[in-house]
Amino acid sequence: MPRIRPQNVTAAQWSPNGGALGTVDMSHPANNPFGENVFSVPVQRQRLPKDVFKKLQRTLEKGEALDSSLADAVAAAMKDWALEKGATHYTHMFQPLTGLTAEKHDSFFNPAGEGTALAEFSGKELIQGEPDASSFPTGGVRATFEARGYTAWDPTSPAFILENPNGTLLCIPTAFASWTGEALDAKIPLLRSMDALSKSAVRALKLLGDDASERVFTTVGPEQEYFLIDEQYYFERPDLINAGRTLFGAKPPKGHELDDHYFGSIPERVLAFMMESERELAKLGVPIKTRHNEVAPGQYEIAPMFENSNVGSDHQQLTMQILPKVARKYGLICLLHEKPFAGVNGSGKHNNWSMGTDTGVNLLDPGDTPADNLSFLFFCAAVIKAVNRHQGLLRASVANIGQDHRLGANEAPPAIISVFLGAELEKVFEAIVSGEGDPHTPGSFLGLGTPVLPALPKDGGDRNRTSPFAFTGNKFEFRALGSSMSLAFPNTVLNTIAAEAIDELAEVLEGKLSGGGDLAEAVTAVVKEAYADNKQVCFGGDNYSDEWHAEAERRGLKNLRTTPDALPEVLAPATVTAFERYDVLSKRELESRFEVWTEQYASRANIEAETTESMARTMILPAALRYVALLDDADFDSLEGEVRALAEELVAAIGELGAANDYPDGIEGIDLAIYARDNQLAAMDKVRAAADKLEKIVADDLWPLPKYEEMLFIK
Ligand code: ADP
Ligand code: MG
Repeated sequence: MPRIRPQNVTAAQWSPNGGALGTVDMSHPANNPFGENVFSVPVQRQRLPKDVFKKLQRTLEKGEALDSSLADAVAAAMKDWALEKGATHYTHMFQPLTGLTAEKHDSFFNPAGEGTALAEFSGKELIQGEPDASSFPTGGVRATFEARGYTAWDPTSPAFILENPNGTLLCIPTAFASWTGEALDAKIPLLRSMDALSKSAVRALKLLGDDASERVFTTVGPEQEYFLIDEQYYFERPDLINAGRTLFGAKPPKGHELDDHYFGSIPERVLAFMMESERELAKLGVPIKTRHNEVAPGQYEIAPMFENSNVGSDHQQLTMQILPKVARKYGLICLLHEKPFAGVNGSGKHNNWSMGTDTGVNLLDPGDTPADNLSFLFFCAAVIKAVNRHQGLLRASVANIGQDHRLGANEAPPAIISVFLGAELEKVFEAIVSGEGDPHTPGSFLGLGTPVLPALPKDGGDRNRTSPFAFTGNKFEFRALGSSMSLAFPNTVLNTIAAEAIDELAEVLEGKLSGGGDLAEAVTAVVKEAYADNKQVCFGGDNYSDEWHAEAERRGLKNLRTTPDALPEVLAPATVTAFERYDVLSKRELESRFEVWTEQYASRANIEAETTESMARTMILPAALRYVALLDDADFDSLEGEVRALAEELVAAIGELGAANDYPDGIEGIDLAIYARDNQLAAMDKVRAAADKLEKIVADDLWPLPKYEEMLFIK
């Protein structure tokens, strides 16, 4: 189908499908849908027998073991609540190693004879599911013929109702393990890492004089970037459908150079979509706080308030499910890929991370005078130590094929992991190490040069957008995650490596205090040592610059550019030691992840490579040849020669790609991933280069694919 301008006109004239629009009086509390579809604490309080409610809360608040005798009562209350909300089915929702969320629906209703049915849901069905689920990747933990896997209820993440125009579904967040008890999912290690961190942090807090805190929670607040394009264009592009990104497309005359999109007024259709998405997420108890346009044309961001890591991670999975779903109602497609458009900024996910006690203290909040906050300095030093030791693992935790187009491409942090502390904190640590100078920075105000504007308190440091791991006031912001990623593994890593470093520093502190030393002196000594040993990972300058890359190499920091370079870090001795010591993942469980992720890389590379070959052969080359024929008819030899030459270049490149797509025998695992990177992806680049040149010369009405300027600018 040749493309014609009127299609763009239709795309621009959107109208909502399915009666998506509607407003209500938000001054009326009953109209605020927050938590409407969540089996939340208030709903539990109202519906559960008193003693059951109390026991369940203890599990949630103190991380105590779940008393399974509660299950029947909870299941009965949950079922009644769900049926009242129109549910016909329930599902144990879990997160297999695909990085996605999985669900298998079971009906509540069982035939009860004489043509009737009875709604049933027992405690056993709540606690345990046994999905066959044999086709999920296990990385060798389980062979496909050994189908048995279990899902186990996670009471710490509340159950909820998912709506559909034709009914509703009760969703129960669950963990997924093999028959032998190995974790086959993303949730189990995350929960284990939260326990590990809590133990280490409580131990340290006791030494630091806090006897009140019994549990420490890690927190996460993700900032999700995404693109929206009209669905017409999406369905015209096999590359978007197959690979989630465009494999062809010349750079448009206008990109983001005018910065006229960033934080700009949000287009009407997009805002309507955002409002409905936020309403749907609110019903599910996901506390969305922020929305704005991002840097690239067609790019946006959504961010929630932070929550504990487990709930925050589940909510992030839901966000990634709701955004694409709601987008369709507005004739839009939501792209979560890390790099949907070459030459245009890609999408990441900032992972704000901190630790907080059950008494309500944020352990990474420096207060007004960080130099005097022993506990803050201690935990901050532990984080620096952890990041320095496990740089490679942190890099691996954000590795996927989409990220390889982004990290280090002057739009996202580099593949080198470093910590940005900010001027004030850096000064504090440097003063502690040198024993010289006053670590205190006097509080200052920002005068704006006119008395009509208020004086603003000045932050302790400027921001550094280029840092992969930046201290931002009262939390660290791990900025290297990709937009399509689950939060679970990066946070599992953060929690585990922090648990290890906190434990080690606590051990040293314990030693110093055992002789009855002064607490302030002992903590200062521990902080001094930890910072001095690990400050090589701290960097306050421009992470995009070539000087930094050279400097990082001199410092011996790792620079793992691509996914096949980074993934082996999952099995590095330091990783295995930390993960086994804190019972987060066994060596076998780590191996299974390594295997699954390398295979995913190779498979996705192959899908991209085959899609490129087929689009080039069946769409782009025919368009070029039609144009050659046209020029031939018109006797326009000079231009015909130019197009012919490009078509020849394309044909040669297709030949090379075809050869690369023909795998050599017997190559697998990481070797296959490396093969795919060095052969298939490299050959794809050549095909694309020729095709993109053709795009700029072939008659527009013959070109078979929507162009960047259409997809990114028609809203
Ligand atoms: P930015 O200026 O980087 O966009 P925001 O103030 O918008 O920062 O916050 C970004 C994210 O940081 C939000 O999702 C927020 O919930 C999260 N955040 C704030 N405090 C914490 C914390 N203690 N732990 C984890 N995340 C936090
Ligand atoms: Mg941010």
